[in-house]
Amino acid sequence: MTERVDHRVPRSRSKLAPTVLVGAEAFARTWATAVIGSSYVPMTRAEVAAHLTGLTEVLVEALHANPFCARPGHDVGTRLVDAHFTGTDTLGRTVQLLGDELLGELGITADERMRSRLAALQGSLSAGYARALRERTLAEQEAIRAAVLDARDQAETALRASEARFRAMFTEAAIGIGIADVDGRILDVNQAFVDMLGHSVEEMRDRNVRDMMHPEDAGVVWRLYDQLIAGELDHYRAEKRFNRADGGQVWTHLTLSLVRGDDGVPLYQVAMVEDVTDRHMLQNRLRYQALHDPLTGLPNRALFLERLGRVFNQREPELRAGLCYLDLDGFKVINDSLGHHVGDQLLVEVGRRLDRSVSGGGKLVARMGGDEFVILVEGSRGTQDIVDVAARVLRELEQPIRIGGHELTVSASIGIVERALAGTNAADLMRDADITLYWAKADGKSRWALYDPDRNAREVARFTLSATMPAALERNEFYVDYQPLVRLEDGHVKGVEALVRWQHPEFGRLAPDHFIELAEETGLIVSLGRWVLHQACVQARRWLVEFGDSAPFVSVNLAVRQSRDPELVRDVKRILDECAVPPHLLQLELTESAIMGTADEPLEALRALSDMGVRIAIDDFGTGYSNLAYLKHLPVHELKIAGSFMEGLRAADEEDPVDAQIVATLVQLAHALRLGVTAEGVETPAQAKRLHRIGCDTGQGWFFARPGPPEEIDRLLRGEL
Ligand code: C2E
Ligand code: MG
Ligand code: MG
Repeated sequence: MTERVDHRVPRSRSKLAPTVLVGAEAFARTWATAVIGSSYVPMTRAEVAAHLTGLTEVLVEALHANPFCARPGHDVGTRLVDAHFTGTDTLGRTVQLLGDELLGELGITADERMRSRLAALQGSLSAGYARALRERTLAEQEAIRAAVLDARDQAETALRASEARFRAMFTEAAIGIGIADVDGRILDVNQAFVDMLGHSVEEMRDRNVRDMMHPEDAGVVWRLYDQLIAGELDHYRAEKRFNRADGGQVWTHLTLSLVRGDDGVPLYQVAMVEDVTDRHMLQNRLRYQALHDPLTGLPNRALFLERLGRVFNQREPELRAGLCYLDLDGFKVINDSLGHHVGDQLLVEVGRRLDRSVSGGGKLVARMGGDEFVILVEGSRGTQDIVDVAARVLRELEQPIRIGGHELTVSASIGIVERALAGTNAADLMRDADITLYWAKADGKSRWALYDPDRNAREVARFTLSATMPAALERNEFYVDYQPLVRLEDGHVKGVEALVRWQHPEFGRLAPDHFIELAEETGLIVSLGRWVLHQACVQARRWLVEFGDSAPFVSVNLAVRQSRDPELVRDVKRILDECAVPPHLLQLELTESAIMGTADEPLEALRALSDMGVRIAIDDFGTGYSNLAYLKHLPVHELKIAGSFMEGLRAADEEDPVDAQIVATLVQLAHALRLGVTAEGVETPAQAKRLHRIGCDTGQGWFFARPGPPEEIDRLLRGEL
């Protein structure tokens, strides 16, 4: 059968494209078929279709509007009620149809954005519909109440007339009406009420209002009832459930009114009940959808946050709570290599296992999105409770997961936070759980980590330092100290090592071990190192001008990252030129690891620097991986033996033979390769003496001088110290 659409019905001046309009009309026809049987409307089928086409266009325009606004949904809901589409199924069918068919009918791709827009429109349409219907019902109820009151007040004839009016309304009304005396004896109920509850009028008349109590009625429903019967209240409205004769339940909006006699004494009570079960169910379903993850069926982020908020609203400070924040390891690889379908199924199975392994009161498993899950444990008794949960979850995940021919092994990392609710809040708990999850990942994955405030404080400080370092360099918060490198034979200052420091506005003077590693991580070391080199060369120039031939060379540390910087050779050359410092007055210190076992490029750079006349030293020699045979192929001039070997040479009366032997061997080796030897960390005269005897050329350490400002080197050079 073909449908005849009545084109004479005025249509909205739609801005929609003709193809979209065709889709909207097709949808409206399906919509009309779905709702036409459930409501009585004074329109032909074609008129209904035309009316619904208009409403569909409003929805379609709203779907595409920028910025998006759900308000038109509300208006559509209202207009449905205004047009008398008020049958019990109308709203449910409408919402379902919108979800199932609208996008398809219009040829719109159902992507995330469209789906969420559509859901918002469904929600606002339901709200608008419910509101309009409620307003209408209330208006109806008011009319009935007025009629009951009229019956009491009017003169005899008028009384009969209004009684007749009341009767008519009582019988015909779509809402349930019941009349009882003040003792609760039910005197009469109308057909709608009878239909609603499934009991006959006679059965109802045998009962007392209090028999209508439902075990889950809110306390307020019956408190208000007592007040009404006592004459303290003329009417009240409440949401109330009734048991049906067939064992089912009806959700209603109940309005209960009191009818008084001429003397004001309460005589009757009139109940008006509107069946809102469908709306109630729909609201429940919408609420469920809004609060659950469609893939795993677990509570979603919104529900989790709601629950967490409730935990913190309990205001019982001695209560504790814990969180496991879980993230799968390497999920992205599975998703990318085996496809989203497998990824989705994996998430479903993980959700199932989580749910299974933490079942029990006070625990909530939620999916936060992607491959992140969270377990909330209310009323924990201490850290161990949550650690147990995390350990159980990790064990549960160890079993391989079989999905469509693949046997997948997943692991997860879990951040754990457990604490008393007092003195903390939901946001802090979440943030700390997130941080701790990151630790679990950083510590090697497939494990749990427990929140540790000290570790956090350290990391925050580290983060603050690394974030503020670039600005600090701009603001000149760094400066360079110098420590002499002394010829052991006669105490002559041959060179000075440049050692950077940070005068931090908040933390005070920071030694390089607090920030060099960070600067390496962030890459700032390249510009910081260049700055130190420049400072040191400026200083070298001053010494050269003042002390001429006896001016010391400057020894500047070069970080691994700098040694691999392709600009290194050019930078060094430029700085030497700018400062007018001859290359032999510069020594660069590199650690063993920077020089050995690396690619060729840094070596080429070092060779170029060495060819230029710059001295190259190996710093902290003996602490790293040393391929001694390789040394002879390297462009190196000096070995700086690490301070740790000086320990055994420290005391005047005893000597550690092993340390002494190591240093002696290193010195022999260095000399055989024609390298100079500097001993680091020389703290006592005994060490200095022994090192000299062993054959070390140069010493550095507190025994000679601590690192200090260049003026101290000036005085040393002038012989003033
Ligand atoms: P390093 O190059 O081995 O520098 C020697 C370190 O030993 C310095 O520590 C110095 O103050 C310390 N020291 C000197 N004499 C003695 C002594 O007799 N006993 C003891 N126990 N220690 C002594 P500082 O200044 O804290 O520097 C630590 C490290 O930071 C340096 O070790 C170097 O690796 C790095 N560093 C310092 N400045 C820079 C720089 O400008 N760039 C780079 N890349 N690293 C730097
Ligand atoms: Mg050094
Ligand atoms: Mg050193």
